[in-house]
Amino acid sequence: MGNWQKEITTTLLLFFATVIIGGFTGHFLILLFLLMLMIIINQVKQINRFEKWIRTGGRGKYPKAKGIWEEIYYHVYRIRKNQKIRKKKLSRMIDQFRRSTEALPDAAVVLGVNDEIDWANKAARETFGLKTSDKGQRIPNLIRFPDFIRYLKAGNYKESVVVPSPIDNRITLEIRIVPYGAGLRLLLAQDITQIKKMERMRKDFVANVSHELRTPLTVLRGYLETLQDMDDGHSPLLTSSFQQMQGQTERMQHLVDDLLLLTRLETQQKKTECVDVPALLHQVCTEGDSIGNASGRIQLTIETNANIVGEEQELRSAFSNLVTNALKYSPEDCSIIVRWYRTKESVILDITDQGEGISKADIPRVTERFYRVETKRSKKVNGTGLGLAIVKHVLMRHNGNLNITSELGKGSCFSCIFPVNRICN
Ligand code: ADP
Repeated sequence: MGNWQKEITTTLLLFFATVIIGGFTGHFLILLFLLMLMIIINQVKQINRFEKWIRTGGRGKYPKAKGIWEEIYYHVYRIRKNQKIRKKKLSRMIDQFRRSTEALPDAAVVLGVNDEIDWANKAARETFGLKTSDKGQRIPNLIRFPDFIRYLKAGNYKESVVVPSPIDNRITLEIRIVPYGAGLRLLLAQDITQIKKMERMRKDFVANVSHELRTPLTVLRGYLETLQDMDDGHSPLLTSSFQQMQGQTERMQHLVDDLLLLTRLETQQKKTECVDVPALLHQVCTEGDSIGNASGRIQLTIETNANIVGEEQELRSAFSNLVTNALKYSPEDCSIIVRWYRTKESVILDITDQGEGISKADIPRVTERFYRVETKRSKKVNGTGLGLAIVKHVLMRHNGNLNITSELGKGSCFSCIFPVNRICN
């Protein structure tokens, strides 16, 4: 029998006893009143005891009680015990999390809705020179670099920002913000001094080697031209050797030129002018038309007279790389469509060919340096594998991007997409 059933049974028994005794003595109502009073007093006492126990935190074992009250005490006691266990487990987890984030080599700072510091790990305190008293301070008051403040305000946290360390400007930091929860953000900073140093070394090395190769190449080409002029055609072997040597030195010249252009794109300050894109495209297409058997293959449609802010030489080299590729990688009887048009958010240059196309797996890789797709072409196509890397860099410097859609055997479309805020006329 449950406790509450026992309680009811006892009350009923008491009631019947009162009825019987009341019947015998003739004082039924008085006895019933006394019974009720006794029950009420008992319950008030129990409630009072319970309230006292709960008020003092319900700690330890609950007081002795009978019937339904024992059950109530037991349930409350059990709930509190489970809560305690859960709380212990949670605080252990938080403790573990804190200890692991403290041990992280990268700086981590939890920012509140008003950019104030909620919490920072050891690396963050060391990297940014934060003190415990800086809790609650707004982060832009402590990291004052304009680039960082712009990044924080813009709220576009897909990218990261590179700034010098506020306590040692020889250290370069890459800061990234990860939003989570309602208005909360996690700021992560990584020391990329070594990576930057290696990158600079790589760039310097490529630039120096390319630069140093130019002089011997010019000398070689000069001598080769003289030798070719002297060749009287008596020895076919000699003639074909000269031709091959010329082909290879030309290829090397292209490589050196492309590498130097890439280095310039990576290192030089951006120059800005208003570039007349329609006129530039007319020139690029006319030049393209004069290559090999390309005459009449290029169809240029200018649907917008939009000019864009940028560097003419860079854009010329990107567009002409794309037009040359379209000509190189499609049959000689197929036309190339060059289209300059505007949409709501962008101004776009599409260069479409009906050539050999690029497989899905190769599309993301063709903009890598030196990547050339291996296909069984009927004739060898010369190239350095640097053209699309140059295009990608040029577009990046113009806040644009390159979109490639292609199907093997059907053709490709290379789209240079610029945001409308680049339009300058
Ligand atoms: P390159 O043309 O000098 O080899 P690029 O960087 O310009 O170097 O192009 C990389 C590779 O992408 C090329 O080797 C070629 O396989 C592929 N590719 C580029 N443009 C096209 C195109 N229009 N159609 C098919 N394949 C292309």
